[in-house]
Amino acid sequence: MKKLKLIYNPFSGDKSFKYNLDACIKMFQEGGYDVHIFRSINTGDIEKHISEMDKDYDVVVASGGDGTVNIVLNAMMKNGIKSALGIIPSGTANDFATYLNLTSNNVEECCKIIAETEPRDTDVGLANDTYFINVCGGGIFMNVSQTIDTNLKNALGTIAYYLKGMEQLANFSPIPFRVTNSKETIEENLYFFLVLNSAGAGSFGRLAPDASISDGVFDFIGVKAKPVHELALLFVKILRGEHINDSGIVYFKDSYMKIECLKDDIKDSETDVDGETGPGFPVTIKTIPKAIKVFGKF
Ligand SMILES: [Mg+2]
Repeated sequence: MKKLKLIYNPFSGDKSFKYNLDACIKMFQEGGYDVHIFRSINTGDIEKHISEMDKDYDVVVASGGDGTVNIVLNAMMKNGIKSALGIIPSGTANDFATYLNLTSNNVEECCKIIAETEPRDTDVGLANDTYFINVCGGGIFMNVSQTIDTNLKNALGTIAYYLKGMEQLANFSPIPFRVTNSKETIEENLYFFLVLNSAGAGSFGRLAPDASISDGVFDFIGVKAKPVHELALLFVKILRGEHINDSGIVYFKDSYMKIECLKDDIKDSETDVDGETGPGFPVTIKTIPKAIKVFGKF
């Protein structure tokens, strides 16, 4: 019999997932799975559980937001677990699930996709020693007060968080970065950068318009220093997915990139991976092609 592990946090998002638990288990059972459950209650318990669990699960399902998905992904990758990954979005920010066309108000549909469809090969990123599945970012927001930062980011999701305040970017000093990919080295003053596996999220779903989660490369988008009126125009172009060739954007695709922060007082600042705190600079990002299989509405 096929085995499925369901990992959920009863406190994530609007805390409503627990009311759908029986319906989920029923659908997985009808899909031919022997269902095992882990209820997460403490920081670090998911990592511990995954490191100690049997390695032969066909599917691991994470119910939670981007952060929970990232924790499960890291624990699976670090413990050599090759199970397919199912996602039931139930956090406040669900960027990657949104990209997979999974909606948080339709738990039954997410379960049905996991129970009845085939998962798709998906690239995974490795930023120094932290894995990510959707996005790694950094920039001027690294300086903003940590509390406001985290709450707002949790509410908006990483991608919207970086882009929402674009009109205000001109109030900040851009940060000098050195970005080295497999072909060239670019030194540029940037407000922020995002390294994307998916095409984006929500209103910014065309941030990397032709990105693919299985092409073995990530899309780098950096926003350069610009006067305020030009930033407003650039923002509109980003919403339309017409910004890639704009002079205000640094854009390339590669499977390798090293990003160094050249400003002394913040060069140890941390990046952001899938909405969680990521490694500090310099950060070396590699694509691990088709490292995991993921269920989605493709
Ligand atoms: Mg790609």
